[in-house]
Amino acid sequence: MALPPPIRPADAPPPRPAGRSAQKPQPRIAVVGGSLTGCAAALLLLHAGFTQVTIYEAAPDAAPRGGGLIGLEHPALDILDRLGIDQSEFVAHDSETVRRVTVRARQPIHTLRQAYPGRNTTWTLLHAALATRLPAGVLRTGRRVAALGVHHTQPVLTFGDGSREVADLVVFADGRTSTGRRLLDPARRLRYAGYVAHRGHAPTPNQPLRDFLRLEPGPGCQYNVAPVPGGLDWTLYLTCSPTAYAQHFGAPPERRTFALPHHVGPAARAHVDAHAARLLPAAHAAIVHATTARMAVPVMDIDPPTRMAWPAGRGWAVLLGDALAPVRPHTARGANNGIEQAAGLVAALTQHHRWGADLAAALHGWQRRHLPAAIAAVHQGPAIGARLGLGHHPHQATPST
Ligand SMILES: Cc1cc2nc3c(=O)[nH]c(=O)nc-3n(C[C@H](O)[C@H](O)[C@H](O)COP(=O)(O)OP(=O)(O)OC[C@H]3O[C@@H](n4cnc5c(N)ncnc54)[C@H](O)[C@@H]3O)c2cc1C
Repeated sequence: MALPPPIRPADAPPPRPAGRSAQKPQPRIAVVGGSLTGCAAALLLLHAGFTQVTIYEAAPDAAPRGGGLIGLEHPALDILDRLGIDQSEFVAHDSETVRRVTVRARQPIHTLRQAYPGRNTTWTLLHAALATRLPAGVLRTGRRVAALGVHHTQPVLTFGDGSREVADLVVFADGRTSTGRRLLDPARRLRYAGYVAHRGHAPTPNQPLRDFLRLEPGPGCQYNVAPVPGGLDWTLYLTCSPTAYAQHFGAPPERRTFALPHHVGPAARAHVDAHAARLLPAAHAAIVHATTARMAVPVMDIDPPTRMAWPAGRGWAVLLGDALAPVRPHTARGANNGIEQAAGLVAALTQHHRWGADLAAALHGWQRRHLPAAIAAVHQGPAIGARLGLGHHPHQATPST
Protein backbone atom coordinates (compact mmCIF):
# COMPACT_ATOMS: atom_id res chain seq x y z
CA MET A 1 0.00 0.00 0.00
CA ALA A 2 1.39 3.40 -0.97
CA LEU A 3 1.33 5.85 1.90
CA PRO A 4 1.47 9.58 1.42
CA PRO A 5 4.90 11.08 2.08
CA PRO A 6 5.71 12.44 5.56
CA ILE A 7 3.53 15.44 6.15
CA ARG A 8 4.98 18.71 7.32
CA PRO A 9 3.64 22.22 6.85
CA ALA A 10 5.83 24.24 4.52
CA ASP A 11 6.50 26.80 7.22
CA ALA A 12 6.98 24.33 10.07
CA PRO A 13 9.88 25.06 12.40
CA PRO A 14 12.87 22.70 12.20
CA PRO A 15 12.71 19.73 14.57
CA ARG A 16 13.75 20.49 18.14
CA PRO A 17 16.79 18.71 19.43
CA ALA A 18 15.81 15.74 21.56
CA GLY A 19 16.35 16.13 25.26
CA ARG A 20 14.81 15.14 28.53
CA SER A 21 14.95 18.65 29.90
CA ALA A 22 13.27 20.40 26.97
CA GLN A 23 10.59 22.54 28.64
CA LYS A 24 7.92 23.27 26.11
CA PRO A 25 4.70 25.16 26.55
CA GLN A 26 1.69 22.88 26.70
CA PRO A 27 -0.06 22.55 23.32
CA ARG A 28 -3.75 23.49 23.20
CA ILE A 29 -5.58 20.37 22.05
CA ALA A 30 -9.18 20.64 20.87
CA VAL A 31 -11.07 17.33 20.62
CA VAL A 32 -14.20 17.63 18.48
CA GLY A 33 -16.84 15.09 19.55
CA GLY A 34 -17.46 13.75 23.06
CA SER A 35 -18.60 10.19 22.36
CA LEU A 36 -16.41 7.10 22.81
CA THR A 37 -13.41 8.07 20.67
CA GLY A 38 -13.34 11.72 21.79
CA CYS A 39 -13.64 10.95 25.50
CA ALA A 40 -11.04 8.16 25.26
CA ALA A 41 -8.65 10.47 23.39
CA ALA A 42 -9.07 13.27 25.94
CA LEU A 43 -8.53 10.95 28.91
CA LEU A 44 -5.44 9.42 27.33
CA LEU A 45 -4.03 12.91 26.66
CA LEU A 46 -4.67 14.02 30.24
CA HIS A 47 -3.18 10.78 31.54
CA ALA A 48 -0.03 11.40 29.48
CA GLY A 49 0.41 14.82 31.06
CA PHE A 50 -1.16 17.14 28.49
CA THR A 51 -3.07 19.73 30.43
CA GLN A 52 -4.69 21.97 27.81
CA VAL A 53 -7.32 19.55 26.54
CA THR A 54 -10.90 20.54 25.73
CA ILE A 55 -13.68 18.44 24.20
CA TYR A 56 -16.28 20.27 22.12
CA GLU A 57 -19.45 18.19 21.81
CA ALA A 58 -22.32 19.34 19.58
CA ALA A 59 -25.12 17.64 21.51
CA PRO A 60 -26.55 19.47 24.48
CA ASP A 61 -26.15 17.71 27.82
CA ALA A 62 -29.77 16.61 27.87
CA ALA A 63 -29.85 15.26 24.31
CA PRO A 64 -30.79 11.59 23.89
CA ARG A 65 -27.56 9.74 23.17
CA GLY A 66 -26.32 6.27 23.30
CA GLY A 67 -26.54 2.98 21.54
CA GLY A 68 -26.32 -0.64 22.26
CA LEU A 69 -23.88 -3.47 22.56
CA ILE A 70 -20.23 -2.94 21.61
CA GLY A 71 -17.56 -5.64 21.55
CA LEU A 72 -14.09 -4.47 22.58
CA GLU A 73 -11.06 -6.56 21.72
CA HIS A 74 -8.03 -7.03 23.96
CA PRO A 75 -5.93 -4.09 22.67
CA ALA A 76 -8.76 -1.62 23.39
CA LEU A 77 -9.45 -3.29 26.76
CA ASP A 78 -5.78 -2.97 27.62
CA ILE A 79 -5.83 0.75 26.83
CA LEU A 80 -8.78 1.19 29.20
CA ASP A 81 -6.88 -0.87 31.81
CA ARG A 82 -3.96 1.53 31.56
CA LEU A 83 -6.35 4.40 32.22
CA GLY A 84 -7.23 2.67 35.49
CA ILE A 85 -10.80 1.88 34.44
CA ASP A 86 -11.86 -1.35 36.10
CA GLN A 87 -13.47 -3.73 33.61
CA SER A 88 -16.30 -4.47 36.02
CA GLU A 89 -17.42 -0.86 35.51
CA PHE A 90 -18.26 -1.34 31.84
CA VAL A 91 -18.47 -5.12 31.32
CA ALA A 92 -21.72 -6.28 32.85
CA HIS A 93 -21.69 -9.82 31.39
CA ASP A 94 -18.27 -11.34 30.98
CA SER A 95 -19.03 -14.22 28.60
CA GLU A 96 -16.46 -14.62 25.82
CA THR A 97 -18.66 -17.06 23.91
CA VAL A 98 -20.35 -16.28 20.61
CA ARG A 99 -22.95 -18.82 19.51
CA ARG A 100 -23.54 -18.63 15.77
CA VAL A 101 -26.73 -20.43 14.81
CA THR A 102 -27.89 -21.28 11.30
CA VAL A 103 -31.68 -21.00 11.17
CA ARG A 104 -34.00 -22.40 8.52
CA ALA A 105 -37.81 -22.21 8.57
CA ARG A 106 -37.50 -20.51 11.98
CA GLN A 107 -35.71 -23.53 13.49
CA PRO A 108 -32.05 -23.69 14.59
CA ILE A 109 -30.29 -26.33 12.47
CA HIS A 110 -26.64 -25.86 13.35
CA THR A 111 -24.72 -24.09 16.15
CA LEU A 112 -21.10 -23.07 16.10
CA ARG A 113 -19.42 -21.91 19.31
CA GLN A 114 -16.61 -19.38 19.02
CA ALA A 115 -14.54 -17.54 21.63
CA TYR A 116 -14.47 -13.77 21.19
CA PRO A 117 -11.04 -12.22 21.88
CA GLY A 118 -12.56 -9.46 23.98
CA ARG A 119 -15.61 -8.51 26.07
CA ASN A 120 -18.94 -6.91 25.42
CA THR A 121 -19.91 -3.56 26.83
CA THR A 122 -22.55 -1.01 25.88
CA TRP A 123 -22.17 2.53 24.62
CA THR A 124 -23.91 3.77 27.77
CA LEU A 125 -21.67 1.91 30.24
CA LEU A 126 -18.45 2.73 28.43
CA HIS A 127 -19.31 6.38 27.85
CA ALA A 128 -20.20 6.81 31.52
CA ALA A 129 -16.91 5.16 32.59
CA LEU A 130 -14.95 7.55 30.38
CA ALA A 131 -16.94 10.75 30.91
CA THR A 132 -17.04 10.54 34.72
CA ARG A 133 -13.21 10.57 34.73
CA LEU A 134 -12.95 13.81 32.81
CA PRO A 135 -12.05 16.72 35.09
CA ALA A 136 -14.70 19.44 35.33
CA GLY A 137 -14.62 21.85 32.40
CA VAL A 138 -12.95 19.51 29.89
CA LEU A 139 -16.19 18.40 28.20
CA ARG A 140 -18.13 21.34 26.78
CA THR A 141 -21.53 20.31 25.46
CA GLY A 142 -23.74 22.23 23.04
CA ARG A 143 -20.63 23.34 21.09
CA ARG A 144 -20.97 22.37 17.42
CA VAL A 145 -17.85 22.95 15.35
CA ALA A 146 -18.70 24.39 11.93
CA ALA A 147 -15.31 25.20 10.39
CA LEU A 148 -11.56 24.99 10.77
CA GLY A 149 -9.43 27.88 9.56
CA VAL A 150 -5.96 29.32 10.09
CA HIS A 151 -5.36 32.71 11.63
CA HIS A 152 -1.77 33.99 11.82
CA THR A 153 -0.51 30.40 11.23
CA GLN A 154 -2.69 29.11 14.11
CA PRO A 155 -5.56 26.59 13.67
CA VAL A 156 -8.87 28.20 14.64
CA LEU A 157 -12.18 26.42 15.17
CA THR A 158 -15.39 28.30 14.39
CA PHE A 159 -18.56 27.15 16.14
CA GLY A 160 -22.18 27.19 15.05
CA ASP A 161 -22.82 30.33 17.12
CA GLY A 162 -19.95 32.18 15.40
CA SER A 163 -17.56 32.00 18.36
CA ARG A 164 -13.95 30.86 17.84
CA GLU A 165 -11.27 28.91 19.69
CA VAL A 166 -7.56 28.67 18.88
CA ALA A 167 -5.77 25.32 19.11
CA ASP A 168 -2.41 23.80 18.24
CA LEU A 169 -3.88 20.39 17.46
CA VAL A 170 -7.45 19.61 16.44
CA VAL A 171 -8.56 16.02 16.96
CA PHE A 172 -11.74 15.34 15.02
CA ALA A 173 -13.63 12.49 16.70
CA ASP A 174 -16.97 13.70 15.42
CA GLY A 175 -18.36 10.48 14.06
CA ARG A 176 -19.67 9.16 10.77
CA THR A 177 -21.01 12.55 9.57
CA SER A 178 -17.76 14.25 10.59
CA THR A 179 -17.34 17.94 9.88
CA GLY A 180 -13.59 17.36 10.09
CA ARG A 181 -13.67 14.77 7.32
CA ARG A 182 -15.84 17.08 5.16
CA LEU A 183 -13.26 19.86 5.61
CA LEU A 184 -10.02 17.84 5.40
CA ASP A 185 -10.91 14.99 3.06
CA PRO A 186 -13.98 16.23 1.15
CA ALA A 187 -13.93 13.64 -1.65
CA ARG A 188 -14.80 10.82 0.76
CA ARG A 189 -18.58 10.77 1.08
CA LEU A 190 -20.88 8.31 2.85
CA ARG A 191 -22.85 5.93 0.63
CA TYR A 192 -25.86 3.94 1.79
CA ALA A 193 -25.14 0.19 1.62
CA GLY A 194 -28.79 -0.78 1.16
CA TYR A 195 -29.59 -2.23 4.59
CA VAL A 196 -30.38 -1.19 8.12
CA ALA A 197 -29.27 -2.27 11.58
CA HIS A 198 -32.56 -2.15 13.53
CA ARG A 199 -31.80 -2.11 17.23
CA GLY A 200 -33.81 -2.63 20.34
CA HIS A 201 -33.52 -2.90 24.09
CA ALA A 202 -35.96 -5.50 25.42
CA PRO A 203 -36.33 -4.72 29.11
CA THR A 204 -37.62 -8.08 30.31
CA PRO A 205 -35.89 -11.09 28.83
CA ASN A 206 -38.31 -13.96 28.36
CA GLN A 207 -35.45 -16.43 28.21
CA PRO A 208 -32.17 -16.49 30.12
CA LEU A 209 -29.25 -15.56 27.87
CA ARG A 210 -25.63 -15.45 28.89
CA ASP A 211 -23.68 -15.39 25.64
CA PHE A 212 -23.69 -13.34 22.49
CA LEU A 213 -26.08 -15.14 20.13
CA ARG A 214 -26.00 -14.67 16.36
CA LEU A 215 -28.83 -16.10 14.26
CA GLU A 216 -28.45 -16.39 10.50
CA PRO A 217 -31.83 -17.21 8.94
CA GLY A 218 -30.59 -17.02 5.33
CA PRO A 219 -29.94 -14.31 2.75
CA GLY A 220 -31.03 -10.80 3.65
CA CYS A 221 -31.12 -11.11 7.43
CA GLN A 222 -28.91 -11.39 10.49
CA TYR A 223 -30.02 -11.14 14.12
CA ASN A 224 -27.70 -10.61 17.10
CA VAL A 225 -28.80 -10.60 20.72
CA ALA A 226 -26.91 -10.39 24.00
CA PRO A 227 -27.62 -9.61 27.65
CA VAL A 228 -27.11 -6.02 28.80
CA PRO A 229 -28.00 -4.38 32.11
CA GLY A 230 -31.77 -4.40 32.45
CA GLY A 231 -32.56 -6.76 29.60
CA LEU A 232 -31.48 -7.81 26.13
CA ASP A 233 -29.94 -5.81 23.32
CA TRP A 234 -30.79 -7.02 19.82
CA THR A 235 -29.85 -5.96 16.32
CA LEU A 236 -31.77 -7.14 13.27
CA TYR A 237 -30.12 -6.42 9.92
CA LEU A 238 -32.59 -6.15 7.04
CA THR A 239 -32.25 -5.01 3.46
CA CYS A 240 -34.16 -1.76 2.85
CA SER A 241 -34.41 0.47 -0.20
CA PRO A 242 -33.53 4.17 0.25
CA THR A 243 -37.19 5.06 -0.43
CA ALA A 244 -38.45 2.66 2.24
CA TYR A 245 -35.83 3.99 4.68
CA ALA A 246 -37.08 7.55 4.17
CA GLN A 247 -40.68 6.38 4.69
CA HIS A 248 -39.76 4.52 7.88
CA PHE A 249 -37.50 7.10 9.50
CA GLY A 250 -38.56 10.43 8.02
CA ALA A 251 -35.40 11.25 6.02
CA PRO A 252 -33.01 9.56 3.58
CA PRO A 253 -30.20 7.41 5.04
CA GLU A 254 -27.49 9.94 4.16
CA ARG A 255 -29.32 12.52 6.30
CA ARG A 256 -30.88 10.36 9.07
CA THR A 257 -27.66 8.53 9.93
CA PHE A 258 -29.03 7.55 13.36
CA ALA A 259 -32.76 6.99 13.80
CA LEU A 260 -33.46 7.68 17.47
CA PRO A 261 -36.52 6.20 19.22
CA HIS A 262 -38.71 9.17 18.29
CA HIS A 263 -37.87 8.67 14.58
CA VAL A 264 -39.07 5.05 14.63
CA GLY A 265 -42.70 5.28 13.54
CA PRO A 266 -45.42 2.60 13.27
CA ALA A 267 -44.42 1.63 9.69
CA ALA A 268 -40.83 0.91 10.80
CA ARG A 269 -42.05 -1.13 13.77
CA ALA A 270 -44.45 -3.13 11.59
CA HIS A 271 -41.68 -3.80 9.03
CA VAL A 272 -39.32 -5.16 11.70
CA ASP A 273 -42.03 -7.13 13.52
CA ALA A 274 -43.18 -8.79 10.28
CA HIS A 275 -39.64 -9.85 9.36
CA ALA A 276 -39.00 -11.14 12.89
CA ALA A 277 -42.21 -13.20 12.74
CA ARG A 278 -41.29 -14.63 9.33
CA LEU A 279 -37.58 -15.33 9.89
CA LEU A 280 -36.74 -15.80 13.57
CA PRO A 281 -37.52 -18.62 16.00
CA ALA A 282 -40.67 -17.83 17.99
CA ALA A 283 -38.83 -16.90 21.21
CA HIS A 284 -36.72 -14.28 19.43
CA ALA A 285 -39.64 -12.91 17.41
CA ALA A 286 -41.37 -12.47 20.78
CA ILE A 287 -38.36 -10.53 22.14
CA VAL A 288 -38.49 -8.19 19.14
CA HIS A 289 -42.26 -7.75 19.38
CA ALA A 290 -42.07 -6.93 23.09
CA THR A 291 -39.50 -4.17 22.56
CA THR A 292 -40.72 -0.61 22.85
CA ALA A 293 -37.34 1.20 22.87
CA ARG A 294 -36.07 0.95 19.28
CA MET A 295 -33.52 2.68 17.13
CA ALA A 296 -32.04 2.13 13.69
CA VAL A 297 -28.76 2.78 11.94
CA PRO A 298 -28.47 2.75 8.15
CA VAL A 299 -25.36 0.84 7.14
CA MET A 300 -23.02 3.14 5.22
CA ASP A 301 -19.86 2.73 3.20
CA ILE A 302 -17.05 5.12 2.45
CA ASP A 303 -13.86 5.03 0.39
CA PRO A 304 -10.92 3.85 2.49
CA PRO A 305 -8.87 6.64 4.06
CA THR A 306 -5.44 7.46 2.65
CA ARG A 307 -4.28 9.71 5.48
CA MET A 308 -5.11 10.63 9.06
CA ALA A 309 -3.25 13.93 9.68
CA TRP A 310 -3.19 17.28 7.89
CA PRO A 311 -1.13 20.39 8.61
CA ALA A 312 -3.19 23.43 9.57
CA GLY A 313 -0.88 26.44 9.58
CA ARG A 314 1.79 25.61 12.16
CA GLY A 315 -0.57 23.19 13.83
CA TRP A 316 -2.23 19.94 12.85
CA ALA A 317 -5.65 18.40 12.42
CA VAL A 318 -6.29 14.66 12.62
CA LEU A 319 -9.27 12.33 12.08
CA LEU A 320 -10.03 9.50 14.52
CA GLY A 321 -12.63 6.75 14.88
CA ASP A 322 -15.80 6.99 12.82
CA ALA A 323 -14.70 10.45 11.68
CA LEU A 324 -11.78 8.79 9.88
CA ALA A 325 -13.64 5.73 8.63
CA PRO A 326 -17.14 4.70 9.64
CA VAL A 327 -17.16 0.94 9.16
CA ARG A 328 -20.04 -1.49 8.88
CA PRO A 329 -21.28 -2.60 12.32
CA HIS A 330 -20.69 -6.34 11.63
CA THR A 331 -16.96 -5.72 11.58
CA ALA A 332 -17.21 -4.82 15.29
CA ARG A 333 -14.20 -2.59 14.71
CA GLY A 334 -15.51 1.01 14.90
CA ALA A 335 -15.03 1.68 18.61
CA ASN A 336 -11.94 -0.54 18.72
CA ASN A 337 -10.30 1.43 15.92
CA GLY A 338 -11.13 4.76 17.54
CA ILE A 339 -9.66 3.79 20.92
CA GLU A 340 -6.54 2.20 19.40
CA GLN A 341 -5.95 5.20 17.12
CA ALA A 342 -6.37 7.58 20.07
CA ALA A 343 -3.78 5.69 22.13
CA GLY A 344 -1.34 5.66 19.19
CA LEU A 345 -1.83 9.39 18.65
CA VAL A 346 -1.09 10.13 22.30
CA ALA A 347 2.08 8.01 22.11
CA ALA A 348 3.27 10.03 19.08
CA LEU A 349 2.43 13.37 20.73
CA THR A 350 4.18 12.32 23.94
CA GLN A 351 7.37 11.42 22.08
CA HIS A 352 7.25 14.87 20.47
CA HIS A 353 6.35 16.85 23.55
CA ARG A 354 8.47 15.05 26.15
CA TRP A 355 11.45 13.98 24.08
CA GLY A 356 11.55 16.47 21.22
CA ALA A 357 10.70 13.95 18.47
CA ASP A 358 9.91 15.55 15.13
CA LEU A 359 6.13 16.02 15.15
CA ALA A 360 5.57 15.49 11.42
CA ALA A 361 7.54 12.24 11.52
CA ALA A 362 5.77 11.12 14.70
CA LEU A 363 2.36 11.72 13.12
CA HIS A 364 3.43 9.98 9.95
CA GLY A 365 4.55 6.96 11.96
CA TRP A 366 1.21 6.94 13.79
CA GLN A 367 -0.62 7.07 10.47
CA ARG A 368 1.51 4.29 8.99
CA ARG A 369 0.65 2.00 11.91
CA HIS A 370 -3.09 2.69 12.13
CA LEU A 371 -4.23 3.28 8.53
CA PRO A 372 -4.00 -0.40 7.53
CA ALA A 373 -6.45 -1.48 10.26
CA ALA A 374 -8.93 1.24 9.25
CA ILE A 375 -8.63 0.31 5.57
CA ALA A 376 -9.02 -3.40 6.35
CA ALA A 377 -12.22 -2.74 8.29
CA VAL A 378 -13.63 -0.61 5.44
CA HIS A 379 -13.05 -3.53 3.05
CA GLN A 380 -14.27 -6.19 5.48
CA GLY A 381 -17.75 -4.66 5.86
CA PRO A 382 -18.97 -5.19 2.28
CA ALA A 383 -17.52 -8.72 2.30
CA ILE A 384 -19.58 -9.61 5.39
CA GLY A 385 -22.67 -7.91 3.94
CA ALA A 386 -22.32 -9.88 0.70
CA ARG A 387 -21.90 -13.19 2.57
CA LEU A 388 -25.16 -12.47 4.40
CA GLY A 389 -26.95 -11.33 1.24
CA LEU A 390 -27.61 -7.94 2.83
CA GLY A 391 -27.97 -4.76 0.82
CA HIS A 392 -27.88 -4.41 -2.90
CA HIS A 393 -25.49 -6.62 -4.82
CA PRO A 394 -25.27 -7.14 -8.54
CA HIS A 395 -26.81 -10.46 -9.69
CA GLN A 396 -28.82 -10.84 -6.49
CA ALA A 397 -32.55 -10.48 -5.97
CA THR A 398 -33.52 -8.15 -3.13
CA PRO A 399 -35.21 -10.33 -0.49
CA SER A 400 -37.17 -7.56 1.19
CA THR A 401 -37.73 -3.84 0.97
C1 LIG B 1 -25.34 -1.97 15.52
C2 LIG B 1 -23.93 -1.52 15.83
C3 LIG B 1 -23.05 -2.39 16.46
C4 LIG B 1 -21.73 -2.02 16.68
N1 LIG B 1 -20.89 -2.90 17.28
C5 LIG B 1 -19.60 -2.57 17.48
C6 LIG B 1 -18.70 -3.47 18.11
O1 LIG B 1 -19.08 -4.58 18.48
N2 LIG B 1 -17.40 -3.10 18.25
C7 LIG B 1 -16.96 -1.89 17.84
O2 LIG B 1 -15.76 -1.60 18.01
N3 LIG B 1 -17.79 -1.00 17.26
C8 LIG B 1 -19.09 -1.31 17.07
N4 LIG B 1 -19.93 -0.42 16.50
C9 LIG B 1 -19.40 0.88 16.03
C10 LIG B 1 -19.27 1.86 17.17
O3 LIG B 1 -20.49 2.02 17.83
C11 LIG B 1 -18.80 3.20 16.57
O4 LIG B 1 -17.72 2.98 15.72
C12 LIG B 1 -18.38 4.14 17.67
O5 LIG B 1 -19.43 4.38 18.56
C13 LIG B 1 -17.92 5.46 17.04
O6 LIG B 1 -17.51 6.32 18.06
P1 LIG B 1 -16.98 7.77 17.72
O7 LIG B 1 -16.76 8.41 19.04
O8 LIG B 1 -15.85 7.68 16.75
O9 LIG B 1 -18.16 8.46 16.93
P2 LIG B 1 -19.69 8.81 17.45
O10 LIG B 1 -20.10 7.87 18.52
O11 LIG B 1 -20.50 8.92 16.24
O12 LIG B 1 -19.49 10.21 18.13
C14 LIG B 1 -19.31 11.40 17.43
C15 LIG B 1 -19.65 12.53 18.40
O13 LIG B 1 -19.29 13.77 17.76
C16 LIG B 1 -20.36 14.70 17.97
N5 LIG B 1 -20.30 15.63 16.84
C17 LIG B 1 -20.65 15.39 15.55
N6 LIG B 1 -20.42 16.49 14.80
C18 LIG B 1 -19.90 17.43 15.64
C19 LIG B 1 -19.46 18.77 15.44
N7 LIG B 1 -19.50 19.35 14.23
N8 LIG B 1 -19.00 19.47 16.51
C20 LIG B 1 -18.94 18.88 17.75
N9 LIG B 1 -19.35 17.61 17.98
C21 LIG B 1 -19.82 16.90 16.93
C22 LIG B 1 -21.61 13.84 18.00
O14 LIG B 1 -22.67 14.50 18.65
C23 LIG B 1 -21.12 12.60 18.74
O15 LIG B 1 -21.26 12.73 20.14
C24 LIG B 1 -21.27 -0.74 16.28
C25 LIG B 1 -22.16 0.16 15.68
C26 LIG B 1 -23.47 -0.22 15.46
C27 LIG B 1 -24.41 0.75 14.80
